[in-house]
Parts: sequence; structure tokens; C-alpha cells
Amino acid sequence: MTTQKENIMPHAKTIAIIGAGFAGATLAQRMLKAGYAVTVFDKSRGTGGRMASARLGQSSADLGAPFIETNNETFSAWLTQQPDVEAWQPLTTELSDAASVYVAKPRQSALTRRMLTGATLITSTPVKEIWPEKNCVLLRDALGHSLGCFDTVIVTAPAQQAATLLDAVPRFAKHAARIKPTPAWVCLMALEQPSGLDADMWIGNDGVLFRAIRDSAKPGRDKGEWAEIWSLEATPEWSQVHLETDKETIANQLLESFKQLSNGSFVPKEKRVHRWLYSRHNKQDRQQNSTDKNRVDNNSIDKNELFLWSEANAIGACGDWFSHTGVEGAWFSANALADVLLKAPR
Ligand SMILES: Cc1cc2nc3c(=O)[nH]c(=O)nc-3n(C[C@H](O)[C@H](O)[C@H](O)COP(=O)(O)OP(=O)(O)OC[C@H]3O[C@@H](n4cnc5c(N)ncnc54)[C@H](O)[C@@H]3O)c2cc1C
Repeated sequence: MTTQKENIMPHAKTIAIIGAGFAGATLAQRMLKAGYAVTVFDKSRGTGGRMASARLGQSSADLGAPFIETNNETFSAWLTQQPDVEAWQPLTTELSDAASVYVAKPRQSALTRRMLTGATLITSTPVKEIWPEKNCVLLRDALGHSLGCFDTVIVTAPAQQAATLLDAVPRFAKHAARIKPTPAWVCLMALEQPSGLDADMWIGNDGVLFRAIRDSAKPGRDKGEWAEIWSLEATPEWSQVHLETDKETIANQLLESFKQLSNGSFVPKEKRVHRWLYSRHNKQDRQQNSTDKNRVDNNSIDKNELFLWSEANAIGACGDWFSHTGVEGAWFSANALADVLLKAPR
């Protein structure tokens, strides 16, 4: 889908952002506000990246991050200002920690979709190559066709995917390639009959199931024809071992694990199983990389190591792999880079 930006200034600076996930949408919003002509490319059909949602019959459910957690006041304040974000207090079998939990309505991907209003959004388009030309930075697709030449190009893909795009700045590519992601299998299941379970969130204890969340209990959800929709997420360790296992087996094992945990006897009417190869980026790799002072070239500005930026090449990167794992980290990374690109704090 392509949304044309309205009222682009005649000589607006152009920026291409690769990735319509939360980091890309956060950066796009900042740059749009500053008057840039923003083009966002994503290889997927929609927005959200690892905050994507998927259809289940006439309804939908969150396939990526099921919610946004934060202990940070600045990020909390931003979240509470968003018209489509609401705090959620799931009934849980676990004692809750201090983190506040928020969800976007009516699904997680709605947040990035709205944040990208005003940008030219080009979906189903994997960017293959980024190359600095004399006066602009050229993007090419897998066939070598030009996708446009921009004043600035920023990569927000997960680290391993970013590594293949950052060849023009070899130190950036090397840095990204060293960061190791953890995978996650997720199974969404729609029930025609209520599960009879009280709690909306269950934490697994057998090494298979990481957590089960009643998606349909979140604020602003339309269950459609279903009584309940649940999301079952596997642990990273089990997901790693079962990377090549078929989807039906994955769904059955996650369901069995949840039944054992909850004593439920539900029969899913419709399922959706997804393998996230790059679910999260683990802490150890981030710590190792944060000690690598050579990753930013001489012309770069390295602010709190939350992003990569080469002023000489007009190429940079941001995303969740620079700081704390998760949505909050993606937001801080994108904002830190925007501060530098706009040469002014928020
Ligand atoms: C199952 C699951 C559960 C999670 N649970 C939580 C949680 O409870 N709390 C939390 O804080 N975080 C959680 N996370 C992590 C959170 O979703 C991510 O940290 C966050 O969404 C990352 O945002 P991002 O913009 O940095 O990256 P992404 O969302 O990955 O966005 C990058 C985008 O780049 C696109 N892209 C990649 N390569 C190319 C290319 N060559 N050309 C064009 N486009 C490209 C991708 O399609 C993607 O849309 C979870 C993630 C998963 C998968």
C-alpha cells in the first residue's frame, strides 16, 4: 500500500527509512514533524514489524509483542498521550512487577500505521542495497532496480538483516552482524467456546511455553465470531531447538503445554503459527558490542551508543538492538538518532 505525503515542501530534505516497525515509525514521525519528505520501505505487507498483528477469521490478534511494558517515565508519558494506546491490567497467575503495561487499539499494528501518516509508505518491497552516490544515497531492490536516491537513509531492520544492508559502512555491518537474536514461535488460537480460565496471562514452567495471553481480553479488541483468542509464545531456548519443526507440531506442543499448566481443555477452531527468527536481541551481545568503540566512523556522532550514524555517508541505523531489548529500546534508539539528525533535542 502506498500513502502519498501531502503538501511536501518544494525543497524538503528527503529521508528513506527501511523498516515500518516501531523504530521506523518513531523516526518517521520526528522527521515528518521537522518538514522532511519521508519514505518508508518495508518488505512485509503491513506495518508494525515485530509489533505486527494477524487475521483470525474476521478478527485479528497480536502476533509480535503482545504489549508494551515500561518503567520509564518519559516513555510512559509519551504512551499515555497516544490516542490509540491504553493501559492494560491483565488478570495474571503471577505476581505483577512494577512495570506498566500498555496496548495499542484495536491491535498493536494500529499504532505504527497511524504514526506513519504523512509518510510515503512502500510495503512488500525488500531493499537489497544501499549505496552512497555523489549527491544522494541510492536504494536498490533485489533485481538491481533503483528505489530512489535520498539525502539520508536509515536502516531499522533487526540486526542480522541490517548487517546485509550496511555494506557501504563496513564497520556498521560488522557491528550489526555480531549481535545475535533469539527466536520465538508464536501460535494464535481462536476458540468457539470460552476457556473457563480466569487469568488473562499465564507464565509457562516446563521450558516449552514462555507465556499464554488472552488477546481478546485486551482493551479495544473485537473478538469477531470467536469466544476468545489466545496467543501462546514459546521460550527462546525451545524455539531455537525447534526452528525447523513443522507448524502443526509446534501448535500441538504449545497447546499441550498450556493445557498442562492451566488444566484447560479448549479446542482451537482456527490457528495461526508464526516463527520469529529475530524476536529479541539478547543482553550479552549488546553488552559486548557496547564496548566496541570502533563501530562509529570519525565523522559520526555517537550519543549514548543508541544508534549508528555516518555523516560522511548519510547512512545510519537504529532499532531495538542498541539498548534495552524491546519496544521501549526501539523508541529510545529512534529518538536519539532523530535528535542528532535534526541537530536539536526533542
Ligand atoms: C513474539 C514476540 C514477543 C515480544 N514481546 C515483547 C514484549 O513483551 N515486550 C517488549 O518490549 N518487546 C517485545 N518484543 C520485541 C519487540 O517487538 C521489538 O523489540 C520491537 O518491536 C522492535 O522494533 P524495531 O522497529 O526495532 O524492529 P522491527 O519491528 O523488527 O522493524 C523492522 C522492520 O524492518 C523490516 N525490514 C527488514 N529488512 C528489510 C529490508 N531489507 N527491506 C525492507 N524492510 C525490511 C521488517 O519487515 C520490519 O517490519 C517481542 C517480539 C516478538 C517477536
